Amino acid sequence: MNLFEYEGKTILSKYHIPVPKGAVFGFANEAALAVSSYPVMVKAQVASGGRGKAGAVKSASNELELKETINSILRLKFGKEIVKSVLVEELLPIEKEYYLSAIYDTKSRAPAILFSPEGGMDIEETKSLLLAVYDLTDFYGSLERVSEKILPLVPEKQRFALKNVIKALMNAFMESDARQIEINPLVITKDGRFVAADAKVTLDEDATFRHEEWTFLEERNLLGLPPTERERAARKIDSGALAYRGTASKYIEMDGDIGVLFSGGGASITNMDALIKEGGKPANYTEYSGNPAREKVAALARVVMSKPGLKGLWICGGVANFTQIDETLGGIVDALREVKPKYPIVVRRAGPGEKEGQRIMEEAAENLGLTLKFFGAETPMGDTAKILINLTHGHTA
Ligand code: GDP
Ligand code: MN
Repeated sequence: MNLFEYEGKTILSKYHIPVPKGAVFGFANEAALAVSSYPVMVKAQVASGGRGKAGAVKSASNELELKETINSILRLKFGKEIVKSVLVEELLPIEKEYYLSAIYDTKSRAPAILFSPEGGMDIEETKSLLLAVYDLTDFYGSLERVSEKILPLVPEKQRFALKNVIKALMNAFMESDARQIEINPLVITKDGRFVAADAKVTLDEDATFRHEEWTFLEERNLLGLPPTERERAARKIDSGALAYRGTASKYIEMDGDIGVLFSGGGASITNMDALIKEGGKPANYTEYSGNPAREKVAALARVVMSKPGLKGLWICGGVANFTQIDETLGGIVDALREVKPKYPIVVRRAGPGEKEGQRIMEEAAENLGLTLKFFGAETPMGDTAKILINLTHGHTA
């Protein structure tokens, strides 16, 4: 879950990392009334990065310029995202831009600090990115070791302050259940203060249950975009009476026309690749796992099939250890009975209750006149992507 810059900065200031004074506006007139001192920075609030290079971060030195600048930025498009608000901030007198971020290092499976003395918009090209890993069994000792590595990269008079920023950033990162907090640039101002000029925060949505303050989850999908109707519907599936068993609410809507119902996180990523490799265009990314109840899988299948213009449905997963195949496929059968799709359906699934699962699916297909092919463990998952794509070529909607 990606946050907007202003939301990220709210988190930073809670941990006493200085951020520029500013406020968010949706209209140029509103901003003009509120701003009393110039110059200011105007910054598009979108979940995507690279705003500077896209002309969505600009300065303004008087009221007229402010209005013109805001109007030139509002409603700009970043992929699917449209700029709906801007952050207007005091313009910082920048001496130098650094790059600082807190992340998880996948190699050591521990939190880490990334730092570069060459921060700013060309950070992708820098060769001076330094990684300093924390030791979870010795968090405070880690701060010392991380500081020893990073502080020599800045002038002596800035070291004490930078150490405090690193300490605060790591606290913010851990306590917020973030996956990444990136400050690029972390600036040192002409009067020698560290200020976070930008903030890119990605939260770990699996920690939602312990963050009542994450109210923005209602308005944002996993990529930080406004959720579609179907994404909203899918999100509700794991709440309510059946909340305790399995998950069936991961649904991200995409542009294509092949509906997918995957099971298992790892397999679903590989399957997505297999589908695209065969020239298929996914209509969604979705995945259920942990042996969810029949009703939950049915609800998810309904969401997937409710998308208009589908040309095929791929139900695919590995060989389950404890997910009951007849129960979960039974849920899909329930939804198929209601929707009765005309497009071809390919199933590849195995595990406990697989024979019964296959039987009820094939029986439903016969009764409903569906084009459905069922495969078990003997057919590799990826191969069934090709089978589905070939079937869709013969199919006329
Ligand atoms: P991004 O391109 O989406 O990462 O947007 P940033 O917020 O990082 O802004 C891009 C660039 O604008 C920064 O690298 C700075 O060079 C510049 N910038 C942002 N805020 C200020 C500011 O307050 N003062 C000055 N002088 N430059 C700024
Ligand atoms: Mn930035």
